[in-house]
Amino acid sequence: MAHVVVIGAGQAGCALCAKLRAGGYDGEITLIGEEPVPPYQRPPLSKAYLLGEMEEERLYLRPESYYSENAITLRLGKPVSGIDTAASTVQLDDDVIAYDHLVLTTGAVPRRLPDAIGGNLAGVHVVRTLADVDAMAPDLGAARTALVVGGGYIGLEAAAVARKLGLEVTVVEMADRILSRVAARETADFFRDLHQRQGVALREGVGLERLEGEGHVTGAFLTDGTRLDAGIVIAGIGILPDDRLAKTAGIEIDNGIKTDSQGRTSAPGVWAAGDCASFPQDGTQMRLESVGNAIDQAELVAENIMGAAKDYVAKPWFWSDQYDVKLQIAGLSTGFTDIVIRRDGDALSHWYYAGDRLLAVDAMNDPRGYMVGKRLIEGGKHPDPALLADTDTDLKTLLRA
Ligand code: ADP
Repeated sequence: MAHVVVIGAGQAGCALCAKLRAGGYDGEITLIGEEPVPPYQRPPLSKAYLLGEMEEERLYLRPESYYSENAITLRLGKPVSGIDTAASTVQLDDDVIAYDHLVLTTGAVPRRLPDAIGGNLAGVHVVRTLADVDAMAPDLGAARTALVVGGGYIGLEAAAVARKLGLEVTVVEMADRILSRVAARETADFFRDLHQRQGVALREGVGLERLEGEGHVTGAFLTDGTRLDAGIVIAGIGILPDDRLAKTAGIEIDNGIKTDSQGRTSAPGVWAAGDCASFPQDGTQMRLESVGNAIDQAELVAENIMGAAKDYVAKPWFWSDQYDVKLQIAGLSTGFTDIVIRRDGDALSHWYYAGDRLLAVDAMNDPRGYMVGKRLIEGGKHPDPALLADTDTDLKTLLRA
């Protein structure tokens, strides 16, 4: 009987196993996860779960009974120590597990503040795993002041939670503005204003010099010479693809684990999907850090394991929740030249154009703008920017054009 072994029990790993069973694959499946918990959703970790408004079980992607009912062998709580691509085996604890297909859904690891500047002090946290967030909760409860390092979506979401819990919050972003990697100035302006109205101090163009404290963090020195009190520090300074096992096994790496258009790595029978994997698009190896990509790519690999021979077509979408704002993003804004702003009551959307081509939309409390934008972008439609900006235009008519 064929054996599919999946390393990494996150969103991608779980979606892959489910798709195999749904597609009628009746061989063996083993899903291996280093964390001691069954596959769970990460996005609420920096939102509802961190706020204490969501129970752990509600994070689980599937009830625990799902795995046994679908003959998926879960091996949790231990990391794989090596892959032998010549023998087609993985080493787990004292076991050697043979595979016909191996799928790497190892995800990403958060960048951390260096020990040399106090990154190893107690009270310094990252937001990636359930264990990270569980470790943060007591510090969040006890601290009066929070320093968030990094003004990306993770940092801003953590800042919103800390603020809601009543802490005095400062965000430092070393680039000249927040969200510079992922959003236009207009969207950054919207979120800066939102946080400032909530009483968060936002320091842009300022980095962290070093943390201070004996054992537990108590404060921070910034690159402009100022000192802040900080009872807790949350670093949201980006993630790196977890390609360590692949690299050691001699599998080709290029912006994460390199795959072809169908999800195959350079090693025979070995596939990759999700945050850890890069795929060819527009002449480069692209990597997307999102739930949508993890699911779509994993399902594609499952289909290809079953012989579909399909190419991956990315349909990027993302979201963020901060205070009472729900941001939904469709498309990728890289290379945009113009922003079209549409404001309709409380609904606000920023549309990214490269010349007359629509690339992406950021929709703030605007589910309709998001939904229409997503369909326009996926359908390769490029509406006249003047029509989009005009609130007399019913967005849905743009889909018919
Ligand atoms: P995430 O998805 O985790 O939010 P991003 O890469 O979008 O990650 O955002 C991380 C932000 O952190 C970037 O805007 C980057 O400029 C900022 N950053 C990275 N290192 C530091 C640092 N040492 N001090 C302040 N900001 C930092």
